[in-house]
Amino acid sequence: MKKVYSVVGARPQFVKAAVVAHAFARQKNVEHHLIHTGQHFDENMSGVFFDELEIPAPLHQLEIGGLSHGAMTGRMLEQMEAIFLKDRPDAVIVYGDTNSTLAGALAAVKIHIPVAHIEAGLRSMNRAMPEEINRIATDHVSDLLFAPHAAAADQLMAEGIPASKISIVGDVMFDASITYSRATENAPDILNALNLEPGSYALATVHRAENTDSRERLEGIFTGFRLVGQPIVLPLHPRTRGKLAEFGLDVPANVRLIEPVGFRAMLQLERHARCIVTDSGGVQKEAFFMRKPCVTLRDETEWTELVDCGWNALVGAKAQAIAAAVTSAAAPTAWPSLYGEGDASDKIVARVLTLPALAG
Ligand code: UDP
Repeated sequence: MKKVYSVVGARPQFVKAAVVAHAFARQKNVEHHLIHTGQHFDENMSGVFFDELEIPAPLHQLEIGGLSHGAMTGRMLEQMEAIFLKDRPDAVIVYGDTNSTLAGALAAVKIHIPVAHIEAGLRSMNRAMPEEINRIATDHVSDLLFAPHAAAADQLMAEGIPASKISIVGDVMFDASITYSRATENAPDILNALNLEPGSYALATVHRAENTDSRERLEGIFTGFRLVGQPIVLPLHPRTRGKLAEFGLDVPANVRLIEPVGFRAMLQLERHARCIVTDSGGVQKEAFFMRKPCVTLRDETEWTELVDCGWNALVGAKAQAIAAAVTSAAAPTAWPSLYGEGDASDKIVARVLTLPALAG
């Protein structure tokens, strides 16, 4: 039996890999397994996703979290190389832009196992972001590049990657939001649990290193939240919780901190928010999928088309700009189709199965 491994490690990758795992499960003659690097390991950042998204437990569970970028990537590379040499998967799939993605791609390509990169061709054009380095390096060692839209494919070709390696398939997160939104209909209602009225709150997430690691930016963001005055619900990433404490920053009274929530609860919170405020890549898109205006706490974004069509306002970390944008956020009338038809995962699996190593 042929086998394909997906490397995951961080929260957004569990969501992306879930729909790909389900698409593989619909195929005969190929096994699909997960390697979990352990980059995110808390129950509410990892375990809950495996239960809720109904994905099989990882075949290999590594425990490599909480290290510097170099140490983390190096240990992942070493341990995944050993696994790949022993198990000899016929292809390896990596997702997005994390250290797990880069390490998985490098480990596989060096021993001539074909690598497929999902969410290829995205660029923030900010090389100070660790994610940007991971994306660029991964794209350039991959055999199959799955671009979510034509602009990402154009970027890859502009960087000299041959068109034959690139497929425009749409965005697996769009697939996930369709699949799991449907499944939230009968899910326990997080709004009731939190005593929230639909439309009465802004939903916020903050976790990017560029915001959390700078006292000035983190303070700017929370001051901006205070100026908004209206209720803001914020499922707090552990990194941000740690940095707020380290910098001694106060959380304004209108900001309701909650623990990170599972994906289904997150989709419900998004669906019923007045607007979404975030520095997350995935949440910017989910805001659009849910037709909610998004305010992005960054100076640039990989998802520029959302800014171009008016669904996303890039405001950075300045308090006044955040407050003004959140207070005035309104959904445009037009909702262009930007991320495919919700069948990206099936297209990805079909293309992976055409690799010589798998087609034989
Ligand atoms: N998410 C979640 N619970 C939360 C916060 C986020 O399920 O408390 C989901 C969110 O819906 C999206 C993904 O996690 O699908 C985004 O992950 P994150 O923001 O950590 O990473 P990024 O997309 O910025 O790489």
